[in-house]
Amino acid sequence: MAVPKRKQSSARQNKRRSSVWKLSAPTLVNCPKCGELIAPHKVCGNCGYYNGREVVKKEA
Ligand SMILES: [Zn+2]
Repeated sequence: MAVPKRKQSSARQNKRRSSVWKLSAPTLVNCPKCGELIAPHKVCGNCGYYNGREVVKKEA
């Protein structure tokens, strides 16, 4: 079995992990119908509209 020749330094290990575990804010757009912040390409949870028409019926 192939085995690494040298032990990887903790600095190199920490550098690798620092880029992996970065958190990013979720992308949000305003609903064109009601203006609520929604995830793109998803039906609006507030008014139930997607692509200009009502997809999910919501009580008024
Ligand atoms: Zn909406």
